[in-house]
Amino acid sequence: MYSNDMQELIGFGYWRSLFEPALPDPARFVDEQWDAKTRQAVVLYLKQGYPLSAWMGYSWCRFRCGIANNQLGSCDLTDGTYCWPEGLVHYLECHAVRLPDAVVQHILAQPTFPHHRASQTPEVTPVSTVWWAKQAGWNSQASSFFGESEEIEREYLRLLK
Ligand SMILES: [Zn+2]
Repeated sequence: MYSNDMQELIGFGYWRSLFEPALPDPARFVDEQWDAKTRQAVVLYLKQGYPLSAWMGYSWCRFRCGIANNQLGSCDLTDGTYCWPEGLVHYLECHAVRLPDAVVQHILAQPTFPHHRASQTPEVTPVSTVWWAKQAGWNSQASSFFGESEEIEREYLRLLK
C-alpha cells in the first residue's frame, strides 16, 4: 500500500554555477554577525543528515578558498523534510553563510535530529528547489564565482559564442 512516502523534499544550499545560473549566490547569504551558538547548532544538525543519492561528481567552493573538492562531498543529505548538499556546512563554518530563517527555525524547532523520519526517506525522493531559488539573501550586491576556475569560465564563455 502506498503511503505519503513520495512527498517532495525541500532543497536548500544549492549554489549557482555556470550550469545552474538561476540558483542563489552564497555571497548574498554571508552574515558575520549571525549568533555563533545558533550557527553551531545548525552546523551540527546539517552534519547529521542522512545521505541520499550521490551526484555525478564532487562540488567546488564558490569562493575558491582552496578546499579540496573531495572534502565538499558529493552527496545530498536529508532530515526527511529538507534536503541539502553535503558540502553546505563548509559555507557556514568557513564563509559565514547564514541560512534563510525558515530553515533555521525548522532546525531549532527539532528537539533532536529526526533520525526516524530521515532514515525512512526513500533514496530517490524528488527534491524541489522552487522555494530555494527565490531566496535573495542579505547582501544584494555581493557575488562569488560562477565557475570552478578562470579556465573553466573562459572555456564555457567560448562555447557560448
Ligand atoms: Zn570555501
